[in-house]
Amino acid sequence: MDAPVRLLIHGASGRMGQALLRLCAEAPDRFEVVGAVSRKPQQRVVDGVPHFAAAELHGVPRFDVAVDFSLPDAFDAVLSTCVARKAGFVSGTTGLYEAQRIALDEAARVVPVLWASNFSLGVAVLADAVARAAGVLAGWDCDIVEAHHAGKRDAPSGTALSLGDAAASGGATPRYASLRAGDIVGEHAVQFTGIGERLEFVHRATSRDVFARGALHAAAWLAGRAPGRYRMADLL
Ligand code: NAD
Repeated sequence: MDAPVRLLIHGASGRMGQALLRLCAEAPDRFEVVGAVSRKPQQRVVDGVPHFAAAELHGVPRFDVAVDFSLPDAFDAVLSTCVARKAGFVSGTTGLYEAQRIALDEAARVVPVLWASNFSLGVAVLADAVARAAGVLAGWDCDIVEAHHAGKRDAPSGTALSLGDAAASGGATPRYASLRAGDIVGEHAVQFTGIGERLEFVHRATSRDVFARGALHAAAWLAGRAPGRYRMADLL
């Protein structure tokens, strides 16, 4: 059997980071978390996993792939660490700046990189369906409505923007509306409205584990791969 993939979890104290750590602990034959990084860790070691502060990133042990669900402000440091260490980079951090998107392409010349606005299988299928519908429904209005928990900072969500790209690829001009409330994990509705009829596509995530599982699947797939910019569609 292959050795476990050595992971660095970046954004470890967050909602996604906690889900990733729990799922890794449930699969020790597949994943070994060699370091967990957050802005200010509360403890140095949790369940055998060493925790590091953002300022200590340069000193983390050797890893195969970093899995990053943090914030745009934290993104540059972990990406450059992966390039310096020749390690793979999986990221779901949304709200990135244009320069950070360009940096992903530059990093992909040196290491394997997979950034996705959404790691769920359902959303990958939804994007495909939306692109096809937009290609047929010329002249219909296209509206993307998304809802997330009150703590989410960016709006529209990264997933809404990716679905918008899918709609635009079929010729639609998407508009966006965002709702921030309570503990909603993530809901996206893409609505095409014509005269006298309306078509709606809806995806609801009820557990963050969906995204965490997808990101870990991507990390296992990316380990040892050639440098390049990969997408979720490459895994499907
Ligand atoms: P969160 O606010 O709960 O957690 C953020 C984490 O980042 C914390 O651990 C925090 O300590 C860490 N952090 C902040 N500044 C840091 C720094 N300078 N260095 C290192 N770590 C730092 O956020 P969350 O809900 O877990 O979401 C994280 C990101 O993932 C967001 O951008 C969110 O939109 C995105 N997200 C993506 C998907 C997807 O499928 N792509 C799914 C869910 C969330």
